[in-house]
Amino acid sequence: MSEQKIVVLGTGGTIAGTSAQAGDNIGYTAAQVGVGQLLAAVPGLQAAARGALWAEQVAQIDSKDMDAAVWLALAQRCAQHLAQPDVRGVVVTHGTDTLEETAWFLHEVLPSAAKPVVLTCAMRPATALAPDGPQNLLDAVAVAAAEGARGVLAVASGKIYGARDVQKVHPYRVDAFHAGEAGPLGWVEEGRVRLAQDWPPAADLPAQGAIESIAPAALWPRVEIVVSHAGASGALVNALVRDGVDGLVVACTGNGTVHRDLEAALLQAQSRGVRVVRSTRCAEGRVLPKPGDALPDSQGLSPVKARISLVLDLLRQRG
Ligand code: ASP
Repeated sequence: MSEQKIVVLGTGGTIAGTSAQAGDNIGYTAAQVGVGQLLAAVPGLQAAARGALWAEQVAQIDSKDMDAAVWLALAQRCAQHLAQPDVRGVVVTHGTDTLEETAWFLHEVLPSAAKPVVLTCAMRPATALAPDGPQNLLDAVAVAAAEGARGVLAVASGKIYGARDVQKVHPYRVDAFHAGEAGPLGWVEEGRVRLAQDWPPAADLPAQGAIESIAPAALWPRVEIVVSHAGASGALVNALVRDGVDGLVVACTGNGTVHRDLEAALLQAQSRGVRVVRSTRCAEGRVLPKPGDALPDSQGLSPVKARISLVLDLLRQRG
């Protein structure tokens, strides 16, 4: 393995959280500890990097408040670091709440065919009796340094996930992530990576990034998510259309089915030029399209990830 460095970009989250009362697992404030201090608290990190480590604070937020401006700043810093020949990979410390969204955004805009971008997080704050952040950080650095690692990945609780399938599935449990039917790509055990599947194929990953051409956050199209459920109506969709929404993702029941009242409003929105995409609110599986579908499906993306792809698609259309 070369002497290339691993860059760790801090964005906040529970991994950087502290509570006034030592040992408090839920009454804490996220995003308090700087990324440099997080690294300093993990013995063996330099060795795991197998070269040098470089830390930089890009944001300091609770990831429930993630927004386009932070995504752009983060992606730009990732792209700049990935372009350096002496950088082996990038690790991003992040909150768990929207980690899967940031992973998918970075997957969509960064050149990750040759170098990995590894997101990691924690379910317990740094001041907990048993914080999970230090081990997750150590594992994420080991993955970023691993031979052949590529793509945008997430590492938590000793498991490695791909950006497309990773999902937070539990609000409290330390092992809070899942990749549904796809399963984890592998595991990190005592600093060693054991793969269940190969790294994402390089041919499926962007060799060139798109971040330079993306408009400032203030100019991003507005894409909202609506849910189909028993008793759903078209009221929300009609209000959003009146309010100038550009795109709508529907978290549909089952295989992309939508309550008839909501569907009527969505079809009307689509006929007025609003882009509508159907995803499923089921935790696993994907919407299987069939001939004659009036509303396109999300190609297997969850509602929150379909929203990101639709935003980027609308941006591309605008040129
Ligand atoms: N609200 C926190 C965040 O997403 C939760 C966490 O990191 O576990 O930043």
